[in-house]
Amino acid sequence: MVVEGVKTDFGPPYYKDLLHPVIAKNYGKWKYHEVVKPGVIKRVAESGDTIYVVRFGTPRLLSIYTVRELCDIADKYSDGYLRWTSRNNVEFFVTDESKIDDLINEVQEKVGFPCGGTWDASKGEYGLTNIVHTQGWIHCHTPAIDASGIVKAVMDELYEYFTEHKLPALCRISLACCANMCGAVHASDIAIVGIHRTPPMPDDDAIRRTCEIPSTVAACPTGALKPDMKNKTIKVDVEKCMYCGNCYTMCPGMPLFDPENDGAAIMVGGKLSDARRAPELSKVVVPWVPNEPPRWPTLVKYVKQILEAWAANANKHERLIEWVDRIGWERFFEITGLEFTQHLIDDYRITPYFYSEFRASTQFRW
Ligand code: SF4
Ligand code: SF4
Repeated sequence: MVVEGVKTDFGPPYYKDLLHPVIAKNYGKWKYHEVVKPGVIKRVAESGDTIYVVRFGTPRLLSIYTVRELCDIADKYSDGYLRWTSRNNVEFFVTDESKIDDLINEVQEKVGFPCGGTWDASKGEYGLTNIVHTQGWIHCHTPAIDASGIVKAVMDELYEYFTEHKLPALCRISLACCANMCGAVHASDIAIVGIHRTPPMPDDDAIRRTCEIPSTVAACPTGALKPDMKNKTIKVDVEKCMYCGNCYTMCPGMPLFDPENDGAAIMVGGKLSDARRAPELSKVVVPWVPNEPPRWPTLVKYVKQILEAWAANANKHERLIEWVDRIGWERFFEITGLEFTQHLIDDYRITPYFYSEFRASTQFRW
C-alpha cells in the first residue's frame, strides 16, 4: 500500500557517497596492505596514497551518545568518515601517520574501546577479534543463555589476546543464545550456544488460542509433536524431544525454559574461509555448562582452557580444526582436558547423509 507523502522502498544510502575521499579515489586500485601493529593497518594505493585503518573493539550494543562520541572522534581524526567491520569492531581512516597514537589514546579515554582485533598473516601472528553475538536476555524471547554478559566475561578474561598478536592462527569466538544460531556459531573456531535440557510443557489454552497446529507440529525436527484432535491441542512425546525450542518459536504455548537446566554447549573447529582447508561446521565438545550470571565462571574457564591448549600446541596459521586434523580428536580431548561422553555422538536423524557429499566450499579446479 502506498501512503501519500510517505517515501518507501528507497533502500540504504549509496555507500559510495559515504566513502572517505582517499578511499573513493583509490577504489579497487590498492597495491598492498601492511599490519603496522595490533589495531593499525596501513593501506597503500597504486596512486601512492597511503591510509591507516585503525580498529577498535566495541561491545556491539551502543548508546547513541557513544555513536556521537565516535562521530566527534571521526571528525577530528578521519575527516568525518568511519565504518564498522563484519565482527562489529569500529574503524577510522587516518592519512597523517603522526596522528594514529593520538586517535588511539582519545578513543581509549573517551569511550574506553581498545585498539586491536587485527592479525598479521604475513608474520603468522594473530590477535583475537570481537565475539560475534546475539540478543540474549536483552531483547529476544527464545534464549537459553545471555549474550552480552557472556561476551563481556569472556573478553575480560581474554583481553590480552585482543590487544596483542599472541595467537598462532585465526581464532573466531562466536556466541548464539539459542539453537537458532543467529550469526556465526555453527562455523566458528570456538562457539558458545545456548541450549535447553527440558521438553516443552504444552499450555493447551495458549495453543488453542494462538498456535497454528499443523505448522507447529511440522516445526519439530524429531517428530515429537502430534496434533491432539480431541482437545484441539498438541501432545509432546518427551522421549523424542531433544529440547531444540523450535516449537516455541512457532507457538507461544510450548515454552521450555528452565533456569536450572538451560545453559551453554561449547563447540569448536568451525571455519568459514577457504584458506588452506575447506570450511567446516563446529563440533560440540562440552555438552552443557550452567548459566552463572554475571560472570559465567565455568563457561569462561572452559573457553580459556580450549583456546590456550590450542594456542600452545598449534603451528603458525593452524586454526583449531586444522590442529585437530593433524592430532586427531583423541589427542584433542586429552590436551584440552575435556571429557568425551555419549552426548557428543551425533543422533540428529533428519539431516540427509548426502549433504556431506555436496561441496560446501569454493575450492575446486577449473
Ligand atoms: S540465537 Fe536465538 S535467542 Fe539468540 S537472538 Fe537468535 S533467535 Fe534469539
Ligand atoms: S523442543 Fe524441539 S524436539 Fe522438542 S518438541 Fe519442540 S520442536 Fe520438537
